[in-house]
Amino acid sequence: MDHSATSTFLNGSSYFIELTYLIASILFILGLKAMSHPDTARKGMFLAEAGMLMAVIGTLMNKEIVSYEWIIGGLVLGSIVGALMAIWVPMTAMPERTALSHAFGAAAAALVGIAEYSIQSSMGLIAELPRFKVGALGFEIMLGALTTTGSLIAAGKLKGIVKGTPIQFKGQNAVNMLVFLGMVSCFIYILLNPAAQPVFYTMVGLAVLFGVMLVIPIGSADMPVVMSLLNSYAGLAAAATGFVLGNNVLIIAGTLDGFSGLILSILMCKAMNRSITNVLFGGFGAVVAEAQAGAGGTMREISPEDAAVQLAYAKKVVFVPGYGLATAQAQHAVRELANKLEERGVEVKYGIHPVAGRMPGHMNVLLAEANVPYEELYEMDQINPEMSTTDVCVVIGANDVVNPDARDNPKSAIAGMPIIEVDRAHSVIVLKRGQGRGFSGLENPLFFKNVTTMLYGDAKASLTNLAQAVQNI
Ligand code: NAP
Repeated sequence: MDHSATSTFLNGSSYFIELTYLIASILFILGLKAMSHPDTARKGMFLAEAGMLMAVIGTLMNKEIVSYEWIIGGLVLGSIVGALMAIWVPMTAMPERTALSHAFGAAAAALVGIAEYSIQSSMGLIAELPRFKVGALGFEIMLGALTTTGSLIAAGKLKGIVKGTPIQFKGQNAVNMLVFLGMVSCFIYILLNPAAQPVFYTMVGLAVLFGVMLVIPIGSADMPVVMSLLNSYAGLAAAATGFVLGNNVLIIAGTLDGFSGLILSILMCKAMNRSITNVLFGGFGAVVAEAQAGAGGTMREISPEDAAVQLAYAKKVVFVPGYGLATAQAQHAVRELANKLEERGVEVKYGIHPVAGRMPGHMNVLLAEANVPYEELYEMDQINPEMSTTDVCVVIGANDVVNPDARDNPKSAIAGMPIIEVDRAHSVIVLKRGQGRGFSGLENPLFFKNVTTMLYGDAKASLTNLAQAVQNI
């Protein structure tokens, strides 16, 4: 190839790369849009995956790639780890798995940044790097490093390896502030003197420490919000990496990730009636002891046969699923019971709380898997006004999201968190294994109310027994 032919080829390939990046970005946006509705969420995932494939193809065409061996090795290794995680990690462990993924993604961003810095330093070019690029590099490394350790602590808390209740000590806020200010000061110093390597590595160390300090004082009940925030940080770190590497698709995808994570955090806070600052600095869980005042009395047990009679002769039944539905994998069993009731002319609805289960959309995903018609799913705000006209409400392994203390007891740790007001139904049947508490560790006065009866046992077994008993009526 002569010189002009080579440069035409390179121009052509760079157009091709930009085109794949453009298509990838469009696919990411369409994917996100589709993911915002349960009906189209699966399609959204495929669109986003196709976008990622386009971005990978485009990047692999880059003329600056000197050797493909490491890339292929990484692709193979990553695919194997991803496939094993998909096979082995149960649905109920999805939050900690997601937290681990954030940690890996953020570590990748931080390592790319550190590698870029050390390459530029070793070539003696770091001092000549434009300020903007140094800033993006510092930003990427700071956010990447703190997100890595923060996400690891979040995963540990969700898995129970790290203490789930807030870890607090005297003067914590002052220490955190010092670490934060130290980190930002190092960042500003590096911006002015990029070649100061000791300061650079001190900044990395402080960011690693800050990630830990940020998450340990937060209770595990608030981990979903924390993870969503960390996801947002990881996205912004990726966007900064895009600026450092001059990669448009990273800038776009990182920004989309950053802001969708932020929006999700805000929506989740709204669903729990908390502010983000309260989640981050409120020490949720520290007031648990005070919150027990409202609960007490005896719980009344009901047999599957008696419960089945109530259900079979009801006009309207509302199922309210929670985390127990997921652990019991009872989504098909509830559908089967619902079918039996509908055959008898009972109107069946499902009340879905936005933070039921352990991840946003958890219940929607499970019920979609069992082909529960989407029209039968009602969001909290839609189902609450219907509660007073509901004959029987069946609570399936839900606890915190139906805890009336959130509404009635201002001292409760979950005071103000919107709940599905199942206690307004004519009759409530709670399916759970025993006296276990919810995620927040709080007792639930619902279980002691006159309208409530308890059907003990694994949710799947209880629902199957109920379906059988309804069939026998
Ligand atoms: P929950 O408060 O955790 O209560 C789940 C209940 O299910 C427990 O009381 C447990 O009682 C019962 N259970 C467990 N396994 C069962 C089984 N196999 N069969 C029957 N029952 C079973 O659940 P929730 O009401 O869904 O509330 C979700 C909580 O998680 C909220 O506090 C929320 O803030 C938090 N959270 C939400 C997310 C999210 O994004 N959705 C993420 C993380 C945390 P027994 O032990 O007696 O059976």
